[in-house]
Amino acid sequence: MATQKGNIGITTENIFPVIKKFLYSDHEIFLREIVANAVDATQKLKTLAAKGEFKGELGELNVEVKIDADAGTLTVSDRGIGMTAEEIDRYINQIAFSGATDFLEKYKDDAATIIGHFGLGFYSTFMVSSRVDIITRSHREGAQAVKWSCDGTPEFTIEDAERSDRGTDIVLHIDDDNKEFLEKGRIEGLLSKYCRFLPIPVVFGKKTEWKDGTQVDTEEPNQINDTTPLWTKTPSTLTDEDYQKFYRDLYPMQDEPLFWIHLNVDYPFNLTGVLYFPKIKNNIEVHRNKIQLYCNQVFVTDSVENIVPDFLTLLHGVIDSPDIPLNVSRSYLQSDRNVKKISQYITKKVADRLNGIFKNDREQFEQKWDDLKLFIHYGILSEQDFYDKAKNFALLKDIEGKYYTYDEYREATKEAQTDKDGNLICLYTNDREAQFAHVEAATAKGYNVLLLDGQLDAPLVSELERKWEKTRFVRVDSDTVERLIQKDDKTVSEADEQVRANLSTVFKTMLPKVEKVDFQVDATAMGEEAQPVVITQSEYMRRMKEMAQLQQGMAFYGEMPDMYSLVLNTDHRLVKQVNDELNTSLADRLAPIDAELRGLNARRQAIETAQQNTKSEDLTEAEKADRKQVNDDIAVQEKLREEALADYARTNKLVPQLIDLALLQNGLLRGEALNAFVKRSVELI
Ligand code: ADP
Ligand code: MG
Repeated sequence: MATQKGNIGITTENIFPVIKKFLYSDHEIFLREIVANAVDATQKLKTLAAKGEFKGELGELNVEVKIDADAGTLTVSDRGIGMTAEEIDRYINQIAFSGATDFLEKYKDDAATIIGHFGLGFYSTFMVSSRVDIITRSHREGAQAVKWSCDGTPEFTIEDAERSDRGTDIVLHIDDDNKEFLEKGRIEGLLSKYCRFLPIPVVFGKKTEWKDGTQVDTEEPNQINDTTPLWTKTPSTLTDEDYQKFYRDLYPMQDEPLFWIHLNVDYPFNLTGVLYFPKIKNNIEVHRNKIQLYCNQVFVTDSVENIVPDFLTLLHGVIDSPDIPLNVSRSYLQSDRNVKKISQYITKKVADRLNGIFKNDREQFEQKWDDLKLFIHYGILSEQDFYDKAKNFALLKDIEGKYYTYDEYREATKEAQTDKDGNLICLYTNDREAQFAHVEAATAKGYNVLLLDGQLDAPLVSELERKWEKTRFVRVDSDTVERLIQKDDKTVSEADEQVRANLSTVFKTMLPKVEKVDFQVDATAMGEEAQPVVITQSEYMRRMKEMAQLQQGMAFYGEMPDMYSLVLNTDHRLVKQVNDELNTSLADRLAPIDAELRGLNARRQAIETAQQNTKSEDLTEAEKADRKQVNDDIAVQEKLREEALADYARTNKLVPQLIDLALLQNGLLRGEALNAFVKRSVELI
């Protein structure tokens, strides 16, 4: 055949500038594309041979990658089916598509889409080459070898050539901007990234060995791939050690995996793979994006967001599916039906596997729970489907290290921990040391205390409260132990009310200023054995602040000070002592004020009764003035009363000491206040 010239049949005038320009970011994939083509051609030949349609010798079928730095070429050779001139015309030249121009316009920023959509795999070589030659000879008997050559314009030449054997050489004349692809190390890196598990041996140079202090080539071909990776094998032929070894090969720096699942499905989509559950201590992010996605053993990507649900991106391992449309844009993936089905399938498999281990070997499951829980909690928080299954095997751990399923826990605690309104109150601590006194108090009362110290435990309890009926999670330090679980309505006598009010005012006067912390004070009877002063932190406010750290739009809560309550135990002898001393030393000063207040309060009561049927806008000026006067008078007396109590507080040595002890126990006494406390204590001794 004489040399022919022609134009590559693309409808857009010149596709190469587009390819070069927009595919720049991931242009390294050209190597994957041509090696994959060589592998395809080899597999096709094997198929023909198996069907008896190819009768020649198969012989060695390696795909070979070579670089020639002097000639500036990178060559990929195979001994596959090869192509005739007509086939080149059909498969390489005719890349004409209806609507190609529109499409290019639409997706010009998305390199992978263009390549995948048009089967432009071969043409991706022009991203790095100034010229590409194909020297090929078909496997058909007596076929003429041909050489096709193209310099990156839509013009090409095709002519007869010499090739002793069937198969194809793709010769890339690497352009000046891409000399890196003539470096051995660079190509080695790319081959191990993209071609590590291709099903046909891929050879790159010779194996090397150390000799007299330098690396020298041996005679042995350097095969860079494992043609039968673990996930392509039948699970029943594999041992635990095989799975562990494969994991180590993939992630040499990771801890041993906890469990794994071998995925294998061929209907309604095709998918194989092995997923591993890593040990996740407390940092979720380091585990993300370790799943490798393959398409018929060709590496595609290790960012699988949009293909598997978010929480599953924490798993490690390999997914191989020809049914995931890999070369389309990410947003397209989310709506793809196959992708959705695959996601659901994997979620179900993962849940079933965990359920299976839980059922068959609960002991092992419990042992690994602490490393597994972050993953499961993430799943529960993000996927309703997963919660529906996980609720049967997700565990709660108490401070004694005993594990319960959700149902077991509710059953175990409902008798002791149901409050007067029928709500189950689950008590927890997230820091046993810091909340020691509260934990002790709760346990002494016969309550169970959960240990919830995981990264996702705070959102988890909120989620469980939404899902479970009549259940609340309450941290042990959010109230005094008597009030954590309210069993009945206690009424307080008026006299007690007065004692509580007096004590509260006295203690409030002596509260130290702690930055970004607000205290409120109240008093209650906690029994003689309990501490005189207990510090608690409202569950609600604390959670709002915790959420503010995790979520946007809640900055308001994040800015709020920490709110603590200082609760005085009116049963404790020291608090009683403060009260008794207060009554003796202030008796003379408070008596006239209290008498005055009694009168004023009675008067206010009378006015209110008289005016109760009159709307405030209908009151006469005199009536209004009357009302205002009595309120003002009460305020004056109350102020006097407060001053009396404050004066007393300042003379009392017990009050600051009791406050500081409580602050100390909760890690709230620092700096100057701590120093003053120590000095005062020494003096007392
Ligand atoms: P795809 O591989 O998706 O079909 P490509 O652009 O990568 O698209 O390749 C186009 C076609 O060129 C292939 O389908 C195949 O018919 C042919 N081809 C490419 N490389 C080879 C090769 N090494 N041996 C035989 N045929 C090849
Ligand atoms: Mg291809």
